[in-house]
Amino acid sequence: MQCSKCQNTAVYTRKYSGESLCSECFSNSILRKAAKTISKYKMIKNGDLVCVGVSGGKDSLVLLDTLKKMSQSHNFKIIAVTIDEGIPGYRDEALDIVKEFCTKLDVEFKIYSYKDLFDLTLSESLDLRESEKTSSCSICGILRRRSLDHAAKEIGANVIATGHNLDDTLQTFLINTLSGDTSKIGWMDPENQGKELRKIKPLSEIYESEIVFYAFTNNLPFQSEPCPHMNEGIRTEIREFLNSLEDHRSGIKNNMYHSILKISNIIKTFDEKEKRNCQICGNSCSGTICSVCSMISNLKND
Ligand code: SF4
Ligand SMILES: [Zn+2]
Ligand SMILES: [Zn+2]
Repeated sequence: MQCSKCQNTAVYTRKYSGESLCSECFSNSILRKAAKTISKYKMIKNGDLVCVGVSGGKDSLVLLDTLKKMSQSHNFKIIAVTIDEGIPGYRDEALDIVKEFCTKLDVEFKIYSYKDLFDLTLSESLDLRESEKTSSCSICGILRRRSLDHAAKEIGANVIATGHNLDDTLQTFLINTLSGDTSKIGWMDPENQGKELRKIKPLSEIYESEIVFYAFTNNLPFQSEPCPHMNEGIRTEIREFLNSLEDHRSGIKNNMYHSILKISNIIKTFDEKEKRNCQICGNSCSGTICSVCSMISNLKND
């Protein structure tokens, strides 16, 4: 089959649009999509230093690859940061992959660990928790967000970019809806990036399956071994449900994504007035003690 855009042989068919693309046209289309998302939401500005969160999985390596390419023709710089959660046997392989890939791309690379920042690895936190009702991923997510904030401040970055894709957005929307946590849906609005430290998701309008294909066709060396805690929450079930819907009704994920944009824009919360500083660590929070300090003190005092 011939590429819809040039004379080369097509290697990928985009079911929802009907176009078939060769490897080069496909990769260019992903770069264009990411660039369009960045410019639509003014995610990166002239002179920015972008801290790119790189776990070693496909999404973050594709993000690093695309931002590196864009930074060569635009006025911004990138630094890769990997957070070492302290998950035995899982993170080590990823660290080697990221180190090698950053050397190849000529991107500066730094590692921050939960152990150094919180004096607890993820495994130690999980042993200390009172019950398994607090999921591994919710503890890990709170610590990772704070670790990236810390890393960005230390390296002087004013933007944090993460590799969340369109599927992640749909899954998070359904998880928040199913748990009744509608206030978090307001925070999903891509215009809600934060003021001092902008949090951006340049791949948020790209299907996960297309990110996998980009990594594959560009020979990116991503880690395929999943985190041992990956299947503990409801996310995997939702992911499979959405994939089976898309298989039978192509384009349904795009439709849902656009509905989420409208809903999150309507219910976004501007609670800047209520922002205070945590009495323990000084980071901004809505109460007297931030979620990280309260979680860590609960874990250590139990
Ligand atoms: S799957 Fe959960 S526990 Fe594992 S790294 Fe991701 S957020 Fe952390
Ligand atoms: Zn082509
Ligand atoms: Zn705090």
